[in-house]
Amino acid sequence: VLSIRDVQRLYRSGDTTVRALDGVSLDIHRGEVVGISGPSGSGKSTLLLIAGLLEPPSAGEVLIDGRRVSHPAADLDRLRTFRRNHIGFIFQKANLIPFLTAVENVALALEIDHVPPRAARAYAGALLASLDLGHRLDNHPARLSGGEQQRVAVARALANAPSLLLADEPTAALDSVRGRQVLQLFREIARTRQAAVAVVTHDQRALDLFDRTIELSDGRTRDVAAHSAASAAGTH
Ligand code: ATP
Ligand code: MG
Repeated sequence: VLSIRDVQRLYRSGDTTVRALDGVSLDIHRGEVVGISGPSGSGKSTLLLIAGLLEPPSAGEVLIDGRRVSHPAADLDRLRTFRRNHIGFIFQKANLIPFLTAVENVALALEIDHVPPRAARAYAGALLASLDLGHRLDNHPARLSGGEQQRVAVARALANAPSLLLADEPTAALDSVRGRQVLQLFREIARTRQAAVAVVTHDQRALDLFDRTIELSDGRTRDVAAHSAASAAGTH
């Protein structure tokens, strides 16, 4: 579903130029969960932002379902609509709206898509309950732990049933049991909805939950390791 072709991304700060990505190519297919790892500053978040159409590449292109979506002259409104309908993004920080409760944060994603408020709230509540947050629906983010906030962000990203789910260290704030639960949920989404999922992670213990892992180093892909996630999934 997602195809990244020879993407570069430069950041200029003052007279120095940082080459955050230096020619990265990556395909993620429907039904597949791909891990992205690598040291701090290697370009993982940048790659995800470009894949999620939240940042333009400096060079190279992004295709989704064969459609070129990274064209510099792309119509921004169309891009935004496309993003809303097809891509779920989980940021490194949960980025919840502080003055809305947990259930309102998730319901908002649906209401933007013209789901009536009551139906949106009901669905949002069910989604949160499936992430063990049924007892936290009416809490504001400040009244949630870091891990709970991250799970609300997961629910929000899933609300519109995206065909492409991108998550930047979604398990960093979670204990290992909850972390695995979230990753297992991603596997389920990949399988049942035929979504493509990419997850940035540092967690070596989670490797068995990915179909494969790509490793970034200084803005380049270093290594592609295959895992037997499909067989591992059956045993957990
Ligand atoms: P971490 O594991 O710490 O989250 P990362 O692999 O996600 O790191 P990126 O955030 O993609 O790394 O950053 C890659 C490089 O690009 C770094 O050198 C970073 O300093 C630089 N960079 C990222 N975003 C910007 C920005 N908005 N402006 C300038 N430089 C940036
Ligand atoms: Mg990062």
